[in-house]
Amino acid sequence: MKKILISIMTFLVIFMTVSTVFAETVVFNWKTLKYHKPGCQWAQKCTQNCTSVDKKTAIKNGGRPCKVCGGKI
Ligand SMILES: [Zn+2]
Repeated sequence: MKKILISIMTFLVIFMTVSTVFAETVVFNWKTLKYHKPGCQWAQKCTQNCTSVDKKTAIKNGGRPCKVCGGKI
């Protein structure tokens, strides 16, 4: 029984990691409508108007890729 539980847990961890990669989370600036990859210097400087969102959500809300990082993951 314990073994099955560990297998399920391992599966969940892998699944969550994979879905996070495919979801393409970007740091979206709601004020300038630019989105950055999380490692971008501007994303790190932006603390007030930025939230981490799905890239699709950012684009849907009029987001444009940052000129520095290109918004690419
Ligand atoms: Zn950027």
